[in-house]
Amino acid sequence: MGARGWHHTPEARARIGAAAKARKSSAIAIEARWARHRAAKALLPPKAARKRLTPEEKRANNIRRAKEWSERNPDRSKAIKRKSFEKNRERINAKQREQNKTPERKAFIRIYAPKHRAANPDKYATYSENRRARGLGAIGSHTEAEWIAKVSYCGNACVCCQRKCKLSRDHDIPLARGGSNYISNIVPACSSCNSAKGTLTGDEFRNRLNGGVTMDPRWASQLANARKSRQCSPSA
Ligand SMILES: [Zn+2]
Repeated sequence: MGARGWHHTPEARARIGAAAKARKSSAIAIEARWARHRAAKALLPPKAARKRLTPEEKRANNIRRAKEWSERNPDRSKAIKRKSFEKNRERINAKQREQNKTPERKAFIRIYAPKHRAANPDKYATYSENRRARGLGAIGSHTEAEWIAKVSYCGNACVCCQRKCKLSRDHDIPLARGGSNYISNIVPACSSCNSAKGTLTGDEFRNRLNGGVTMDPRWASQLANARKSRQCSPSA
């Protein structure tokens, strides 16, 4: 060792060594990046040929490349499309409504809509339920998938009488009493329980079904029948 004060401390030496190493590896990384860039460029047609693309061809190229990207990244692509739709929902829907006014579209819709409706009953039930709730000024909405998940969570049975039959959406806190149209406020109920429940909340209705003080004879017999059969006729 030479005179004191002329040498770096071991810590400083380590620091300097690490910095040099980092510089070297970042230089290697940059060089590798350039190599990849050159290789990609070599695959492209010569610059002169590329310049001859018309604007339409360039546009078609971009569309094709975007499509290929979406196919490689389906989830990200779906999320981006969804976000963009949410952002421009009003404008897109207005444009669609305008386009649907042409005679050709009207004819197409007349033929196609009933088929689509018949093929997607749950989807249309969701549409109409969301629309009805909006009309009543309720907050919230739910999707078909959320409804299907909720029905399965509830054992594919009416939450009031436990019968496994055709289930309709019941708002636990009724829309008329300020309940929301979010899936958290929706339960599956058979049509007879749903209409018997009226503007009661789920708790109020189940209280009556289970022999609360104001038990209505209609509900008592309905519950007794339900417990006997556990099954609805297909038309119920
Ligand atoms: Zn029921």
